[in-house]
Amino acid sequence: MPNIFSKIIAKEIPAHFVYEDDYVVAFLDISQATKGHTLVVPKQEYTDIFEVPEELSAHLFKVVTLLSKAIKKAFNPQGLNILGNNGEAAGQTVFHFHLHIIPRYEKSEITFSLKNNMGSLSTEDYRERAKLIKAAL
Ligand code: AMP
Repeated sequence: MPNIFSKIIAKEIPAHFVYEDDYVVAFLDISQATKGHTLVVPKQEYTDIFEVPEELSAHLFKVVTLLSKAIKKAFNPQGLNILGNNGEAAGQTVFHFHLHIIPRYEKSEITFSLKNNMGSLSTEDYRERAKLIKAAL
């Protein structure tokens, strides 16, 4: 069954589109976490980033960059977050890969709190983690 974003892309359900090309669309997130909150979505259905071909992400990020600049021009936010939730553990709720563009007007509007584990890690821990990622490339 097509997910909600595929239905939006097929124009079966309405959305406020701000961009469309052969591979990618962008429309306003219905929640408007902040003014101008926009989703950038590949037309083809990929569940999450783990399925997305790198060539497509290169194009998608180009569109994210273009739209970030347009949103800056339109609303003059003080900052902007680019967010991708991949998998339930990361807070994904719509399982069709997408990136959020979230313009920020005040620091207190949204809080992303990342735990800082720096003090509990040794140089060896960092080395080992970097080694595992490089080996997996
Ligand atoms: P995520 O939690 O990263 O999967 O984000 C899914 C996002 O899709 C949420 O921010 C929702 O507000 C947004 N969303 C869900 N349904 C719609 C819809 N019909 N039109 C626009 N945005 C939607």
